[in-house]
Order: sequence, then C-alpha cells, then structure tokens
Amino acid sequence: MPRIKTDFLVLGSGITGLFAALKLAPYGSVVIVTKKSDYESNTNYAQGGIASVFAEGDKLEDHVRDTLEAGAWLCDPAAVQVLVEEGPPLVKELLNYGVPFNLEAPGKFDLSRNILIRQRTRSITS
Ligand SMILES: Cc1cc2nc3c(=O)[nH]c(=O)nc-3n(C[C@H](O)[C@H](O)[C@H](O)COP(=O)(O)OP(=O)(O)OC[C@H]3O[C@@H](n4cnc5c(N)ncnc54)[C@H](O)[C@@H]3O)c2cc1C
Repeated sequence: MPRIKTDFLVLGSGITGLFAALKLAPYGSVVIVTKKSDYESNTNYAQGGIASVFAEGDKLEDHVRDTLEAGAWLCDPAAVQVLVEEGPPLVKELLNYGVPFNLEAPGKFDLSRNILIRQRTRSITS
C-alpha cells in the first residue's frame, strides 16, 4: 500500500474540509481524503443559501432567537451564538473564495427570506 506523508490530513471534501484545507495550506502540505468522489457531499446538494445577518435592520439577537425557535429550543444556545456572531465575516470569506452567491451588485448579497433552488444560491436572512 502506498504511503503518503503530509503535514495536515483533512477528512472529507465538503465545505468544512475544503475550508480547513484552504486555511491550512499556508502552513504546510495538505492531503484531503474523501469517500466515493470529491463532489459527493451534503455541501454539493445544498441549495437554499445561508442564513446570516446582512440585511439592513436585521440583528444578531433576532437571528439567535429565530434559530433557537426553529430548532424547537433543542439547540445549544452557546453554539447558536457563535454560529450567528461568526457567520457574516465567514460568509464574506466564502464569497471572496469564489462561492457563487447571487449578488445584487459586486460584494452585495441578493438577500431573500425564501429558500430557492441551486441556480439561485443566495444569502438569506432569517
Ligand atoms: C439536499 C440538501 C440541501 C441542503 N440545503 C442547505 C441550504 O440551503 N443551506 C444550508 O446552510 N445547508 C444546507 N444543507 C446542509 C449543508 O449541506 C450541510 O450542513 C453542509 O454541507 C455540511 O458540510 P460538511 O462539510 O460539514 O459536510 P459534507 O458536505 O457532508 O461533507 C462531508 C465529507 O466527508 C466525506 N466522508 C464521509 N465519511 C467519510 C469517511 N468515512 N472517510 C472519508 N471521507 C468521508 C464525504 O464524502 C464528504 O466529502 C443541505 C443539505 C442537503 C443534503
């Protein structure tokens, strides 16, 4: 069996694995191991956009409350807080990496409350 030596081993080629690989790349060699094919992941099937606070008048605390409510109050509030607070800059980072969000103008997300299909991937507010 061939042996591969690498500084970082990333398991999975969904958005989590690819994002980690991009972040690790400046610090050493990265190998991504995935199963079946590099495109087979939940990430590749995602279709409705990402909920994040970008709309004028939208607030982080509203997004936290909406998320807890949509999760039937079963979500870990501390985890939801991190997700909501760290979301906007990370979504912008995805845009800078070339994720094809719908844009109204360069750098300005086409926001919607609706979940639409893949061709209209967009940032949505909750
Ligand atoms: C139909 C659908 C629609 C969705 N729509 C949305 C949406 O609109 N908005 C939204 O925010 N989220 C949506 N989601 C959820 C979203 O896709 C996931 O939360 C997100 O993609 C998870 O990313 P991930 O990288 O953690 O996992 P994944 O994308 O699932 O990646 C996991 C990776 O690990 C690999 N792997 C698994 N087991 C092994 C193993 N044993 N060895 C090696 N590799 C392995 C897989 O092959 C894959 O590459 C949707 C999900 C589905 C299925």
